[in-house]
Amino acid sequence: MSDNVEISDTPFPQSPVVPSLLEGGAPIQFRCHKAIACFNACCKNIDISLTPYDIVRLKHRLGITSTDFLTRYTMPYEMEKNGIAGVKLRPVENGTACQFMTEEGCSVYADRPTACRYYPVALLSMRRQNEYTEREAYALVEEAHCLGHQEARTITIDAYRQEQGLPEYDDAGRGWRQLILKKKSSGPTVGTPSKRSLQFFFMACYDLDRFREFVASDAFADVYALDDALRTTVLNDEMQLMEFAFRLIRQIMFNEVTIPVRDDALQKRQARKQERDAVMAEIAAKVGPIEGTPLEDERYTCSNPDS
Ligand code: SF4
Ligand code: SF4
Repeated sequence: MSDNVEISDTPFPQSPVVPSLLEGGAPIQFRCHKAIACFNACCKNIDISLTPYDIVRLKHRLGITSTDFLTRYTMPYEMEKNGIAGVKLRPVENGTACQFMTEEGCSVYADRPTACRYYPVALLSMRRQNEYTEREAYALVEEAHCLGHQEARTITIDAYRQEQGLPEYDDAGRGWRQLILKKKSSGPTVGTPSKRSLQFFFMACYDLDRFREFVASDAFADVYALDDALRTTVLNDEMQLMEFAFRLIRQIMFNEVTIPVRDDALQKRQARKQERDAVMAEIAAKVGPIEGTPLEDERYTCSNPDS
C-alpha cells in the first residue's frame, strides 16, 4: 500500500491482505465451487465482520429481531482502542466454524454477509492525504488453504462484484463505512466518545429494531422535531431507518446537525425524569427499595449522549 494512504478499513482485519491496491477493472484468477477440494475451508475458521445491512439481511432470513440476532450469532469487537465497536459473526460453541456452515455449504447463502461475498477480494475504504472524499479500492487476499486461486478462470473485480451481488451491499453499507472512516480520521479532534455515545452508536448501527423503538418513543419526540412524513418513512422503511440512524450518529458524534432539535428539549427531559422519579418513589414507598437498571430508554434520551 502506498505511503500516503491515510486511512483504510477492510472487512478482513486479521487476514493477510496482499499489500497492493487494485482498481475494479483489475483481473483476478479465481473460482469457488462445490466440487473444489477446499470446499467450506474458509467457513471453518471465521473472522467475519458484519455491516449493519448484513445484520438486516440475516435477521430477516432467520425471522428474528436484530436484538436476538446480535445475542445469538455475533460478538462485539473494538475497531480502535477506546473507540467504536464493530460486530463479528460468533463461531460455533467451543470452535472456530461459522454457525451457518453445513456439509452442503452456507445455509444462509442468499443473505450471506458482505465479507463472505467479497472473499478473496477485500474492499478498502480510504482517504488519501489532501483528499476530502473517500475512495474505494480493492486488495487480493491469498491464503494457503484457498485453492480457488488455482482455478482456470480470470474475472475482473467489477465482474466478480456483480456476480456476488455486491453492488447492493456496497450501496447499503456506504453510510456506515463513511462513519467509521470519519471517526478514525478525526481522531482526537472529536475527543474520546463517552460510553454512552458508544452504546448509542452500537444500537443505532447494529440493533435496528431497538433503534426503531427509540425513534418511535416519547423520549425521542421530546428532543427531536421530526416532521410527520419523515417519521412515518423511517418507522416503516428499514433502509430509510438505517440511513436515518447514520444521520443521527453524525449529529451526535460529529455535530453535523441535520435533524432539528426542540428548543424545549432539556425542560421536557427534566420533566419526564421528575415524573419517573416520582413514580419510582411512590413504588418504593409501597414495596421497599428497588434494585436494578434504569428504564431501558433512559440510555438514549438526550440529544447528545456526551452531555
Ligand atoms: S455466513 Fe456462510 S459463507 Fe459466510 S462464513 Fe458463514 S457459512 Fe461461510
Ligand atoms: S475456494 Fe476458497 S473461498 Fe472457495 S471454498 Fe475453497 S477456501 Fe473457500
